[in-house]
Amino acid sequence: MLELAGIRVDARSIGGLETAIDLPDWKVCFDVGRSPRELLRRETILFTHAHMDHLGGIAYHCATRALMGMGPPTYVVPPSAVAPLQQLFAAWRLLDRSELAHHLLPLAPGERYEHRKDVHLEAFEVPHTVPAQGYVLWKRTTRLDERFRDLPQPELVRLAREGTQLDRTDETPEVAFCGDTRIQGLDGHPAVRRARLLILECTFLDERANAEEAGKRGHVHLDQIVERADWFENEAILLTHFSARYSRDQIERLLDERLPASLRARTTALLSD
Ligand SMILES: [Zn+2]
Ligand SMILES: [Zn+2]
Repeated sequence: MLELAGIRVDARSIGGLETAIDLPDWKVCFDVGRSPRELLRRETILFTHAHMDHLGGIAYHCATRALMGMGPPTYVVPPSAVAPLQQLFAAWRLLDRSELAHHLLPLAPGERYEHRKDVHLEAFEVPHTVPAQGYVLWKRTTRLDERFRDLPQPELVRLAREGTQLDRTDETPEVAFCGDTRIQGLDGHPAVRRARLLILECTFLDERANAEEAGKRGHVHLDQIVERADWFENEAILLTHFSARYSRDQIERLLDERLPASLRARTTALLSD
């Protein structure tokens, strides 16, 4: 379990093999490529796109939760994935002779999913090789407006009775997750730049696949992050989805060598075991 910018992240992500990014603080997960056992308890999952390494675990997740007596999960998906997923679940119901109860919610870029009273998630479009979207997790905080902070309690009560709005509600982008994307996916939503924690794929790292090739395959190359080094305002950045061709040592060494110090200090690489 990582803790980045004070946010707990339980993540696994290797390009082409498996991605699942769980945020226990908000009980929400992005993508389930292979449905590890720890994620069965997670009821709400938002999927970025329909590649197998991001969505392949959906039927297993659903069936195994039911087997363990847990309630029907909610799957938030890009609208284009709804009909094929309904067919997939229909086929599995025939094979598995089980109900596979779940809620399938389409969410288009620009729309928001109300997760909790104080948390919603907003989808934004990212360019990949299939329809894909990222998500921004927004936290709402309501507090007494600064203008009234020094007033005595009876005065506040009087103002409230008169119908004065005393509270102020702020929305802050806590997490942005881009899923699989070309570098241009960073521009998919203004909040991506300033989210406290940015989770960004970085599939390719060196000359074995250059930036142009990364773009053709719908992915980000480390060179492109270096080019934009001054752009990031995030408190913490988690780089994910490294190609399986890179060893843990190679990843750390390439990040140390290529990222400017200001960015390196805020950046964590998601390494697999
Ligand atoms: Zn992927
Ligand atoms: Zn993909």
